[in-house]
Amino acid sequence: MALRGISCVVVTEPITGQRGPSRERPIGILTERDILQMRRLALALSTTRVEEVMSTPLSCIHPADDLAAVRDRMQKLRIRRMVVANDAGELVGLITESNLMQSIDPVDLYGVYEILQRQVNILREGQFQLLSRQRFDLSRALANREFKLVYQPLLNLSQGKIQSAEALIRWTSPQHGTVPPCDFIPLAEHSGFIVELGDWILETACQQIHQWLMEGGQPIQIAVNVTAHQLLEPQFVAKLLGIVERAGIPPALLKLELTESVLVENTMATAHCFQELQKQGIQIAIDDFGTGYASLSYLQHFSFDTLKVDQSFVRGIHTNPKAQVIVHSVLDMAEKMGFKTVAEGVEYPEELQWLRDAGCQVIQGYLIGKPLPPEQWEPEWLSGAVLPLIGAATASDGRGDRQVPAPGR
Ligand code: C2E
Ligand code: MG
Ligand code: MG
Repeated sequence: MALRGISCVVVTEPITGQRGPSRERPIGILTERDILQMRRLALALSTTRVEEVMSTPLSCIHPADDLAAVRDRMQKLRIRRMVVANDAGELVGLITESNLMQSIDPVDLYGVYEILQRQVNILREGQFQLLSRQRFDLSRALANREFKLVYQPLLNLSQGKIQSAEALIRWTSPQHGTVPPCDFIPLAEHSGFIVELGDWILETACQQIHQWLMEGGQPIQIAVNVTAHQLLEPQFVAKLLGIVERAGIPPALLKLELTESVLVENTMATAHCFQELQKQGIQIAIDDFGTGYASLSYLQHFSFDTLKVDQSFVRGIHTNPKAQVIVHSVLDMAEKMGFKTVAEGVEYPEELQWLRDAGCQVIQGYLIGKPLPPEQWEPEWLSGAVLPLIGAATASDGRGDRQVPAPGR
């Protein structure tokens, strides 16, 4: 990251639970010193979160505050910068020690508003530079073929077969090593690069569906994670249909996974897009169900195919009475509304047993198989063979990054 020409940027987070246009509230400041400190500690930029290194605590003032009082507070707190926020908690500027020095100079007196305006412009420029840099890094990684897709099998419990997979992206960077998707997908989303990266992901996954069809096994449906940015592109549906057609696959073998936030934030546009996709036979799953902030209200407005119960409910479900009540209710509701259900993150045979008894149709997790490159997929997953009852894997096999033996192996 280069803070070229500026000494700090303000870090913000969205204000959730508000209607109307999305808003941001300041939560901290990232300074040149923080970046130098990171380098001293040899922290990798791509794998370290901003919040781990930003200068805290953050101190906040209001635009109407008296400058002398602001200077006194800075001196008392021994800080050099303060964030300026309005009554709604939104960022409107940043005021530094040197701004104060300038404004109390009787010869050259600036208005506070003018100072703030200049700072906001500098901040915007700083944010823009950061995003451009990140976009450049990701774009170069795509050109250098540093991304690949791995595929995690999903087991249909009533049939005992693998019939589908989830495509998950992996980035192996020569500089930073293995970078997990949760570290770079948000950057790609913020910088707008997700559209280009998302196209590559969709193309690659559709080609894989075709490849498996050509190999003569049973058709394997692949689910691809898609973000709000991609879905709301004006030509998304047409582009997706083009990709499906070029790959020569039936649209029903492609599923899109979207998180709840997409549905909550862009209701009308998303509902329209869903209708278009489903008209063409492309299925839709709601990912990480139960972790969003308006989980139930949208269920009446959208039609989709599958609910994926988040792994936080699945972990240890056989011993967690509260999670059991929640998952029972979700499965019951899904059945009555005509959705299929997938339980994510199944690691233990006891979890599988509980989910099967509760009527869950499909499970995904390390107990069945980890996300793997296609060449490492088991032949019986591809052939549609009925897998022996799972029970061989012990609890300690299922944790962490280790490969758990697939059923019967
Ligand atoms: P997700 O879509 O909910 O994917 C499931 C995540 O859970 C994956 O992590 C998967 O490796 C992990 N997982 C699966 N089974 C188990 C298990 O039994 N135990 C545990 N502890 N974890 C399990 P991963 O691959 O790190 O992906 C994280 C998230 O990053 C995904 O969550 C998804 O939101 C995003 N992501 C991954 N690939 C893509 C992609 O191609 N495009 C987009 N837009 N997002 C992606
Ligand atoms: Mg997913
Ligand atoms: Mg998920």
